[in-house]
Amino acid sequence: MIFVLLFIGLAAALPLFGQQYRLISLRPNELTKVTEAEWWRLKQQNTQFLDLTGRYPTLLEPMREGQSVSVTLEKPVIVYNYPNGSEFHEKEVNSLLTDIDPSKIQGTLEELSSFKSRYYKSEKYLDSSIWVYSKLLGYALGRENYNLTVVNHEKFPQSSYILRIKGTNNSVETPTIVLGAHIDSMNLVLPSFLPAPGADDDGSGVVTLLETLRIVTEHGLSFPNDIEFHFYAAEEGGMLGSLDIFNAYFLQKKVVAMLQQDMTGYAAKSLRKGQPEHFGLITDYTSPYLNEFLRQVIETYCRIPVFETACGYPCSDHYSAHMNGFPAGMVAEAQREYWNPYVHTTGDTIDKLSMLHIAEHVKLCLGYVYELGEYSF
Ligand SMILES: [Zn+2]
Repeated sequence: MIFVLLFIGLAAALPLFGQQYRLISLRPNELTKVTEAEWWRLKQQNTQFLDLTGRYPTLLEPMREGQSVSVTLEKPVIVYNYPNGSEFHEKEVNSLLTDIDPSKIQGTLEELSSFKSRYYKSEKYLDSSIWVYSKLLGYALGRENYNLTVVNHEKFPQSSYILRIKGTNNSVETPTIVLGAHIDSMNLVLPSFLPAPGADDDGSGVVTLLETLRIVTEHGLSFPNDIEFHFYAAEEGGMLGSLDIFNAYFLQKKVVAMLQQDMTGYAAKSLRKGQPEHFGLITDYTSPYLNEFLRQVIETYCRIPVFETACGYPCSDHYSAHMNGFPAGMVAEAQREYWNPYVHTTGDTIDKLSMLHIAEHVKLCLGYVYELGEYSF
């Protein structure tokens, strides 16, 4: 016990050598000034927050430690119509679903989770980012309608990546459909030193997107609307990568839907507790209209049911889209009480995951991309 506490203490103390205070959001439209040690204590308790230190630099200094202030962070979410199940392209989508390959999913996830860690602050772990980048480059090279963007972030070395399949609409007002996952992982005890394989959190989401992208590419598909695959840096640091991207997209892009895939591989606890294998549809801080569409996609294309669940504030990168007024959703591996208990530890490994469960998420993503890519917004 003393050993464990010593390590937790060290982890909390180490970041003190950097910037001393952070500005975090623990509740909607509220910012709190905390020390870096408190930041780590909250993180180790699995308290979820946004880190907005970089966005409000002038607010930080005059505030007292522990003080909270009200700031309007959330923009009103724009409402769009989504296709109804009766309008779905079942024949076309079903022909894509037969190409989902669980052995390919497994191979990709084995590679990704074999990196020691994907901790966003450590340059020594950038090998995992280069791996993601080279996968995406393999798809983008030689395809004129593919565009790969590296998004560098000011305060940490890990980059985010955006692979865009340009829509045939070709206008500035072209609707954009986003699929997101985060590339970083974190060991909460000693993030700079201990392994964080992050197979489920969020290696599973990354390979869900990569398998979707593989099939869309091999079928040579393009759509009237833009499709963007987002691979975010530093979700574990308080949604830092996705916040930079969606703050920049505000008033610049017509993002009509964003679907986050964070933790898509663990079904063991549901089964152990006598529940059917299922999806968890996140109902808080998401768009109810988009959620209704997602439910219909699942009912049309997937073999497992979907149950509603809450995730709390701010949960994952979809909140960065939601906060900026874009309709966002997240479908996770199960209802929250059945999520993977090994995340953020050395135990978040591939052997605990189901490739067939990830394949269900790929079905959802292929249905999402096809039906929204074709839809006239
Ligand atoms: Zn995650």
